[in-house]
Amino acid sequence: MRNSEQFKRQARADRPERNDSGMRKQAEDRQEIANRLSNVEHKILVLSGKGGVGKSTVAANLAIFLSQQGKKVGLLDIDIHGPSIPKLLGLEDSRAQASEKGIMPIAFSDNLKVMSIGFLLQSRDDAVIWRGPMKYGVIKQFLKDVQWGDLDYLVVDSPPGTGDEPLSVAQLIGRPDGAIILTTPQDLSVIDVRKCVSFCKKLHIPVLGVVENMSGFVCPSCGERVDIFKAGGGARMAQDLHVPYLGSIPIDPSIVAASDAGRSFADEAKNSGAAAAFEQIATKILDHVRGATTEAPSFLTGATRPKPETAGATTTETNKENRVRIAIPLASGKLAQHFGHCEEFAILDVDTVSKRTLNSERIGAPAHEPGLLPRWLREQNVNVIIAGGMGQRAKRLFDEQNIEVIVGVPANEPQELIDTYVAGELKPGDNLCDH
Ligand code: ADP
Repeated sequence: MRNSEQFKRQARADRPERNDSGMRKQAEDRQEIANRLSNVEHKILVLSGKGGVGKSTVAANLAIFLSQQGKKVGLLDIDIHGPSIPKLLGLEDSRAQASEKGIMPIAFSDNLKVMSIGFLLQSRDDAVIWRGPMKYGVIKQFLKDVQWGDLDYLVVDSPPGTGDEPLSVAQLIGRPDGAIILTTPQDLSVIDVRKCVSFCKKLHIPVLGVVENMSGFVCPSCGERVDIFKAGGGARMAQDLHVPYLGSIPIDPSIVAASDAGRSFADEAKNSGAAAAFEQIATKILDHVRGATTEAPSFLTGATRPKPETAGATTTETNKENRVRIAIPLASGKLAQHFGHCEEFAILDVDTVSKRTLNSERIGAPAHEPGLLPRWLREQNVNVIIAGGMGQRAKRLFDEQNIEVIVGVPANEPQELIDTYVAGELKPGDNLCDH
């Protein structure tokens, strides 16, 4: 059995070094964490620019919502300075059991397992003594050690801000399905959304959307709505930044009461406006992650919105069998003639029968390292690449991964190419980069 002192000692020994062997060690760490999380189907990060905006409340209630949909869910509270999930779920007295095999999460219900740094600390004050690199060691150790087993969803309550701690979480956790960004309506909080969005952009994390919490208060006596912190800032910022806006949750005393009692507010206050708002938001997130978005298409940071007639398509209208995910390397917004030199990718989900574009997003190209692009595009679940010139080695790697490549295509705009593709008229041309 390990106790919190042993855990801290191990974390201290595990802090990253800034040299070659340190880099190698970090790569090994990531691999170990990837192995540990290999049975987790979807990972969702919950982020906020600062503390106190309701990040943990939304993370906890999203996890409960998903588990109530019959999904196997893990909730990971990695907010090392203020782990509040134990309190929010009434698990303050729980202590994690650790063995040589790892740390066992706590069962909140049949479908929901919870792990929090709080379960390992003797007292909440323990966390504040952790400094700099040691925090990385703690986070890494934590991700490596928890035994989740098979999960449909892992919801991660990340440390607030965009500093070293959330960075370590985002880098170590592997590629998440996306991040939800929490804000409150005040200007200061909304400005932090911008930082969170660029944080996601740098790390190639899809932004599932922005949630504005504590947005207005409806007086329980007279029913009048008062916008204590203003309202609508989150929506405007999301629009400016071209990321989806998932909705707003009002200030609701039942949320405080439910949190203080360690219960889900969606259950505690079923008929409240806050519970209804939350359910709509959670449904959008679930739909989005399942690839069945009904409103907010799968944008990434800097993504372009689809044409109005293509937005709003649903999987109920389209058969998944007919869908293809197409990647187009771009330079200056048009198909890049040299695949290896592209600046970004347009990634489009297309229904080949209705000939509609369901989702359209732009993602910055990853670093140019040998073999990285084919692996990365595989991770994006791409089936088809429309390219100008492409080296033989890259082409072979895509063939091995069963990704169809159409080379020698002219430098047109992505939607034009897609229209030609769905019309069955996109013909391969000369591969100008055949080396
Ligand atoms: P964070 O994780 O961002 O630090 P928390 O989720 O811990 O924030 O929330 C901080 C406090 O605000 C908690 O006491 C919680 O119950 C309360 N809270 C969160 N959202 C709301 C809301 N919409 N209405 C009223 N209280 C809320």
